Amino acid sequence: MEQYTVGVDVGGTKTAYGLLDGGKNIVARLSHGSDAACSPEAFFGRIAGNVRELMAAGHVRKGDLRGVGVGVPSFVLFEEGRIVKTSNLPNLRDFPARAYLAEKLGGVRVILDNDAHAAAIAEHRLGAGRGFDSLLYCPVSTGISSAIIIGGRIFRGSYGWSGESGHMIMTPDDGVECGCGNRGCVMSWCSGSMIAKHVQNWIDAGERSCIPEFAGGGEISCLHIERAYNAGDALARRAVAQMIKYLGVWTYNLYVTFNISCFVFGGGLLKMWRNLEGDGKGGNLLESMKAVFDGYNRNDMPVYFKEAELGDDFGVIGASELLF
Ligand SMILES: [Zn+2]
Repeated sequence: MEQYTVGVDVGGTKTAYGLLDGGKNIVARLSHGSDAACSPEAFFGRIAGNVRELMAAGHVRKGDLRGVGVGVPSFVLFEEGRIVKTSNLPNLRDFPARAYLAEKLGGVRVILDNDAHAAAIAEHRLGAGRGFDSLLYCPVSTGISSAIIIGGRIFRGSYGWSGESGHMIMTPDDGVECGCGNRGCVMSWCSGSMIAKHVQNWIDAGERSCIPEFAGGGEISCLHIERAYNAGDALARRAVAQMIKYLGVWTYNLYVTFNISCFVFGGGLLKMWRNLEGDGKGGNLLESMKAVFDGYNRNDMPVYFKEAELGDDFGVIGASELLF
């Protein structure tokens, strides 16, 4: 009986695999670093080998497998199963990943989609979005993105990359340049790596801060900003306030566009903010974003900001859910 599934979560730094049984429990796992230097053939060849290994570990035969779902941090032409480009793994571009993997696995059913789409499907069915007909899933981390569920189904758009709203432009041609090629998109103001760039620019312009000291004279990261924030550093506080402001405006723009009342947020920035001390305004990142959102929202119908519930396995579970 085809009751097992394999979920593969390809991340910029790590690729994780799960074998799920008929009750959607993860019964075997595997993970390894994502090798950015690999050719796409070698990258997906390794995935095929690991899927076979995982099946062997779980004593699962081909006939027991419903299929393999793969979430990739890429622009994906969904119908074709083709990866168009991947900013974190630049070699994964213009590659028919689904067909290649299916062939390597001897004709097993393979579904490939953008990782945020996969995670949105999982949160909608099994996580924080249960019971909502429509939702916006927003990962906020090194990158910022969204995925849109409308009427219970993922909305992929004309080419498959709906929801790339992290590149929605807030301040045209103003600010630091993002990987998308533009200045002033949401990510350029708010993503983990971009906040560090803003701070570095302020310091280069002669502003005083204890952040360089925390960075030991090396490259500034979010962790140094977090430490400085907790030490009361004014520059760190300005960086966090700037991030919250643009995240609040971004969510408001999404709300007026879609009128979807359930936002589910995942990602590392939420975790970081939880470690920060209160700033007098109180609360965590979600509450602070919601306060900015509410400042623009002139309508009192309820809007829910929720934290993702599926934890660290959301990528693997989401990839597996593509098969249902
Ligand atoms: Zn951008």
